[in-house]
Amino acid sequence: MINPFSKLGISDDVVNAVKELGFENPTPIQEQSIPVLLEGSNDFVGLAQTGTGKTAAFGLPLLELIDFKSNKPQALILCPTRELCLQIANDIKNFSKNTPNAHVVAVYGGANIMQQLREIRNGVQIVVATPGRMLDIIGRKAIDFSSVKYVVLDEADEMLNMGFQEDINDILSTTPDDKKTWLFSATMPPEVRRIARNYMENPVELTMGTKNTGNVNIEHEYYIVRARDKYAALKRIVDFNPEIFAVVFCKTKLDTQDVAEHLIKDGYNADSLHGDLSQQQRDKVMQRFRDRNMQLLIATDVAARGIDVNNVTHVINYSLPDEIESYTHRSGRTGRAGKTGISICIVNSKEIGKIRQIERIIGKQFTKAELPTGFDVCEKQLFALVHKVHNVEVNNEQIDQYIPRIMDEFAELSKEEVIKKFASLEFNRFLDYYSKAPDLNAPDERSERGERGERGERGSRNFDNSNYTRLFINVGSVDDFTRGDLLGFVCNNGKISGKAVGKIDLKGVYSFIEVENDTVDALFTNFKDVKFNNREVRIEKSGDAPVGSRGGEGGGERRRGGYGGGERRSGGGGFGGERRSSGGDRRSSGGSGRRDGGNGGGFRDFSGRSRDDKGGNTGGSGRREGGGERRRRS
Ligand code: AMP
Repeated sequence: MINPFSKLGISDDVVNAVKELGFENPTPIQEQSIPVLLEGSNDFVGLAQTGTGKTAAFGLPLLELIDFKSNKPQALILCPTRELCLQIANDIKNFSKNTPNAHVVAVYGGANIMQQLREIRNGVQIVVATPGRMLDIIGRKAIDFSSVKYVVLDEADEMLNMGFQEDINDILSTTPDDKKTWLFSATMPPEVRRIARNYMENPVELTMGTKNTGNVNIEHEYYIVRARDKYAALKRIVDFNPEIFAVVFCKTKLDTQDVAEHLIKDGYNADSLHGDLSQQQRDKVMQRFRDRNMQLLIATDVAARGIDVNNVTHVINYSLPDEIESYTHRSGRTGRAGKTGISICIVNSKEIGKIRQIERIIGKQFTKAELPTGFDVCEKQLFALVHKVHNVEVNNEQIDQYIPRIMDEFAELSKEEVIKKFASLEFNRFLDYYSKAPDLNAPDERSERGERGERGERGSRNFDNSNYTRLFINVGSVDDFTRGDLLGFVCNNGKISGKAVGKIDLKGVYSFIEVENDTVDALFTNFKDVKFNNREVRIEKSGDAPVGSRGGEGGGERRRGGYGGGERRSGGGGFGGERRSSGGDRRSSGGSGRRDGGNGGGFRDFSGRSRDDKGGNTGGSGRREGGGERRRRS
């Protein structure tokens, strides 16, 4: 079978190199641009998000077009940040590992210029550079660009945002007039258009996705809270997502530091990234994040530019960006390389207008989400714990010797009692912290005044909207459903249009979903024999009666689980009782609860990876401090 990259016109040496990197099929942007760029005869404008495989989209054609027998610079790639510069140079080195005599140099500020000059002197064909350092080297007359055939302007909008316009002009003026310019940008503001007009001749223009549209793999959500509850809301979102691996954006350096410091104090595995850090400190923070030794990276827009870390699950806009356009860059840190991601905005009710502006720019709608209750968090964490216990790898060789003693210790207890105790070990802490947790959701003043946004429906309707019926369904986030998944699941099985669906309230083992009244009967009929994971799916009217207070299905299931909505709603019988009786346990085991290895992530299981020193500091007694802080702040 012919390799799909070969089909696009890439030579064997390069195809073998990308195969080793695990690239089996070209990404859509590669499929579209490689054939065009391989012709080598056009200027090019690619409107593409970060994380879509852009580097290979221009890197692979470059490797085909360059004459590697010559040691003169033939391609110049300009990009906004040192991180991106290193990333691109590294990627191209990997793509060209089987290409004889291929030399790539990364030229960026904050590093030893002598070493870079030496590499240039030794002969390079591809120069990847940030504008400032490139100009410096040109000023020293240390590079000859007379043989440059291709200039790539990567993340052009970011370079202009960062004020590199003049530097770019100066650099380009040292390259031959007949070179081809390839420009990539996530957004197309007028300044980028101007560059395209000034430097390019009839460029081939490709739009990956819709113009100015955010990555399709990203869901956008916003939470409305009072300004004073922002931090508590952030923590609740994090606690509700035990596997979160996120970049949290703040407006100022001070804010990033403040938020990061509080999170660390509260037992979370976080750190800040901002412009006041030395390059070395920034590298260190980034390395920890990349290695997933840190769960929450708190960053400013500028510092986060060029962050290229895969598998970021969430981007959290702790404050909205001043420049609405920056939202695209922020959210583009998640949903990379075909993965899905969630971009969250924590806003107050006065900022809804800004959300609507962002919606217009990205061409996508936000979902108004409700902050989970303390109960929801407890439930979510409990099942994450159960999942973790279920999947833990047992080292029989090591543990077997202790089993007789352990069995002795538990001899008096039934299997169920032992399970309960293990689960409670972690769970009690949540119960304690969240037992009195307030509702953090602030009213959306606009919708209360009846001023709905254009699409107000899914977001801002209240439950009692008379056109909609609120339904209970016994699947939720523990089944790995996102709101989008649930929408698809209900529409596909219920054979109703997505337009008929209103607010979706994703819980742990169950969810609520609003649908237009006149679709309810059809939905029920079509949902008769639907199963999920061999479990019968029940969907029924939530109506006025709380789920838990009705006999049968929804409430029944939850009561069986012991933490049922019914019990919670009916005054916290089992839930409260459990909490009270276990409070003492928690306190007495608070310190030892962290013995599981300085998991600075506090409540979160973070796949048991080893922690660095910071994580360790927040272990042990750090948990107790954390708990205190949490109580004060929520
Ligand atoms: P980029 O947009 O170039 O930063 O790429 C984003 C991520 O996707 C990087 O980690 C690449 O290694 C990865 N990637 C790029 N192209 C492919 C491909 N064809 N198949 C699999 N992964 C890819």
